[in-house]
Amino acid sequence: MEALPEFALARPRTIAELAAARAAHPDAGLLGGGTDLMVNIRRGIVAPKVLIETKGVAALRTIAAAESGFEIGASATLVEIAEHAELRRHFPGVAEAAQSIAGPTQRIMGTLGGNLCLDTRCIYYNQSQWWRAANDHCLKTTGTMCHVAPKSRGVCFATYSGDLAPALMALGAKVELLGPAGQRRLDLAALYIGESRHDGKGKGDGKNFLGLLPGEIVLRVRVEDRGGWRSGYDKMRIRRSIEYPVAGVAVALKREGDALAGLGIAVTGTNPRPVLLEGTEALLGRAPDAAGFAKLDDLVRDQIMAMKTTFTQGFYRRRVAGVLARRLVERLWNI
Ligand SMILES: Cc1cc2nc3c(=O)[nH]c(=O)nc-3n(C[C@H](O)[C@H](O)[C@H](O)COP(=O)(O)OP(=O)(O)OC[C@H]3O[C@@H](n4cnc5c(N)ncnc54)[C@H](O)[C@@H]3O)c2cc1C
Ligand code: SF4
Repeated sequence: MEALPEFALARPRTIAELAAARAAHPDAGLLGGGTDLMVNIRRGIVAPKVLIETKGVAALRTIAAAESGFEIGASATLVEIAEHAELRRHFPGVAEAAQSIAGPTQRIMGTLGGNLCLDTRCIYYNQSQWWRAANDHCLKTTGTMCHVAPKSRGVCFATYSGDLAPALMALGAKVELLGPAGQRRLDLAALYIGESRHDGKGKGDGKNFLGLLPGEIVLRVRVEDRGGWRSGYDKMRIRRSIEYPVAGVAVALKREGDALAGLGIAVTGTNPRPVLLEGTEALLGRAPDAAGFAKLDDLVRDQIMAMKTTFTQGFYRRRVAGVLARRLVERLWNI
């Protein structure tokens, strides 16, 4: 185990103090629970001289009913989200996703903000400094080529593996950000820009996967209770605990009689961003039948692009995503 380098720690207590600390230290690392960031620091992937801890900001620790839905602060912990009785009742998919993350100790420490901004992962990246140096690094750090796709034109395909983002995206959640120019709110799905197009013309990739402007911080997420929607989350992993998803799928659906009236499906653990499937409206207006599931398979095949960034083959992760999506739609339909 490598020793941690020295860093200064800022501990703001209010949102104003947090913004001031961010402005004073633009290169600082934001520290939620540190369950991902501290690992990256120890591995020499990043070495911020200053860390700004977000957990002491009381206004960001809350989970509260707001605007006919819920508002979850960026510093709410995973265990608080998983065990919040009202949240669980209204949005079981969000609680199931939080409960599926890592193990109990990481869930006590880890936060919503850290989970949403979780760094993308790759077998050539989540390694020690000496391992990466022995392989001449790669372009997500200081190297010049991608070992997963050596012919990629400067594009990184590292995989986004956070579990909460898809659960919230399937429900149409919005994220509130604070930056030097003030606050803004956007669809959570728009926070993720890791398109990783092979022609290099995508908005972002596995290296630049967050649409945060310089100095921006995630403040909170709002999810609206639209009435009558059911939600769930399922993931496949190698071990049954303390494990990132091979693929993870969130579904939110509305059933009206014998017809699907609304459907949101989001996938993680495959692409360099969590993917909110486009085209699910093609399944609406009837019960989920064989033709509907065939359409769903097409959507997954066309939009889920899993590269060999984990020990599990990309084509298998895509297959798993399709199977989980179908099973989850069936489960929620029959509740
Ligand atoms: C053994 C192990 C297993 C794991 N398994 C899973 C898993 O199954 N699923 C999963 O999703 N994760 C998993 N993780 C990763 C991690 O524990 C969780 O994603 C956790 O939620 C990260 O939250 P954190 O607060 O600890 O993040 P941190 O490590 O504090 O931060 C992560 C990143 O987010 C940034 N950040 C933090 N807060 C904010 C904010 N408010 N605004 C903007 N940026 C911010 C940080 O600067 C950093 O870049 C695992 C980790 C370990 C060690
Ligand atoms: S996908 Fe390529 S560039 Fe990105 S982390 Fe993996 S090896 Fe590095």
